[in-house]
Amino acid sequence: MNIPKTSYPRIIIIGGGFAGIALARKLSKQEVQVVLLDKHNYHTFQPLLYQVSTGGLEPDSIAYPIRKILKDFPNFHFRLAEVNEIDTTCNTIKTNIGDLKFDYLVVASGSKTNYFGNTEIEKHSMAMKTIPQSLNLRSLILENFEEALLTTDLHERIALMNFVIVGGGPTGVELAGALAEIKKGILPKDYPDLDTRLAQINIIQSGGCLLKGMSENASAKAEDFLEKLGVHVWKNVRVTNYDGKTVTTNSDLIFDTATVVWAAGVQGATIKGLDAKDFVTRGNRILVNQCNQVKGFEHIFAIGDIACMATDEFPNGLPMMAQPAIQQGQQLGSNILKLIEEKPMKPFEYKDKGAMATVGRNKAVVDLKTLRFQGVFAWYVWMFVHLFFLIGFRNRMVVFVNWVYNYIRFDREARLIIRPFKKKFKL
Ligand SMILES: Cc1cc2nc3c(=O)[nH]c(=O)nc-3n(C[C@H](O)[C@H](O)[C@H](O)COP(=O)(O)OP(=O)(O)OC[C@H]3O[C@@H](n4cnc5c(N)ncnc54)[C@H](O)[C@@H]3O)c2cc1C
Repeated sequence: MNIPKTSYPRIIIIGGGFAGIALARKLSKQEVQVVLLDKHNYHTFQPLLYQVSTGGLEPDSIAYPIRKILKDFPNFHFRLAEVNEIDTTCNTIKTNIGDLKFDYLVVASGSKTNYFGNTEIEKHSMAMKTIPQSLNLRSLILENFEEALLTTDLHERIALMNFVIVGGGPTGVELAGALAEIKKGILPKDYPDLDTRLAQINIIQSGGCLLKGMSENASAKAEDFLEKLGVHVWKNVRVTNYDGKTVTTNSDLIFDTATVVWAAGVQGATIKGLDAKDFVTRGNRILVNQCNQVKGFEHIFAIGDIACMATDEFPNGLPMMAQPAIQQGQQLGSNILKLIEEKPMKPFEYKDKGAMATVGRNKAVVDLKTLRFQGVFAWYVWMFVHLFFLIGFRNRMVVFVNWVYNYIRFDREARLIIRPFKKKFKL
């Protein structure tokens, strides 16, 4: 791997997401050697992936080169690599570019889509966890409209213009809202020959409310916003299968559709060596103590989505969100330094700053610790927070200018099929 030898302790971080980057930033100024490995050479700002999928933003405005984030630190080394195995006996990781020994290891590999074992759904539906997946979805949406324009079969046209989103969390809600805005603002302009009334957006939620985990007000208001945008909200309905043509559910409801977006769950992206039952708990997450140590090890840690840290408030583990990931990364930085100095580590305490989701133009819901609000002001707050947490001045500027432009022009200029995603659809 061509990592220089040093007298400093070597800390390997697997994953350059919110958690891994926060940790690397904290440690790279210290007398330690930090090696960060990621299978992508960029950090992805996942909360805005849905805007890439729906042509609101170009992918490069929500991605940032990992090397650039940490370029000023001489003790920091990045390698583009996929970690395949962790050998906890020899303190070594095995990757597609070679093996490397560690003094301390931090697993920050995040999460992946959870299909709950349904391979048919996994094969035929679209996920939205990475930039390539979002670009696939963007292409598919646009290709469907192109095909709908050509087909003479009305049933097929309806299915091509029927969108089913499974999962009523923030990802599902935000995507449904964006698709509804495409139907209203883009379809009539780009496809005047298509009957835009045929475009239907459905969001299916197995539970009794959208945005589970947020307040009742936020959930009700998000549903109200979506319905006003013409989205069909199906609650207490569980999707049982999708064979590439038809979605079946546990009720009489079925949907003929060319596009199913699966936003119904995530699970920890575990790595061989730390994936056995001894380490992994609910949602395939690695069980950690209050100092993020993996059971049985003093020098191996997990942070972010992959880590399951149970607290009184969150007995099933902290939420799989950016804030716990960032806070754990920052705190673990201090704790590893304490461990090296043989001082006691400080247990992690999650500072819950609240949650928010946007449904579309002027429509968002915000739950802060003491204040809850919805509507236009919430939308401004949502935009400000997302701009603030984006990495890189250029990205912030590009996203801001895009949002202003889209707001004034009712437009989404990135509706481009750059990389065709060929999914043959025939009813
Ligand atoms: C569509 C979407 C919308 C979201 N919206 C919000 C939101 O509005 N607010 C919010 O708080 N949270 C949101 N989240 C959740 C939030 O993005 C995650 O909680 C957060 O990214 C977790 O950070 P992490 O560092 O643990 O993992 P990630 O950010 O997922 O980073 C993990 C990194 O590890 C790398 N990796 C994984 N396995 C390996 C391996 N074997 N070898 C090398 N590299 C590897 C990956 O390439 C990735 O870069 C959203 C998530 C998605 C998918």
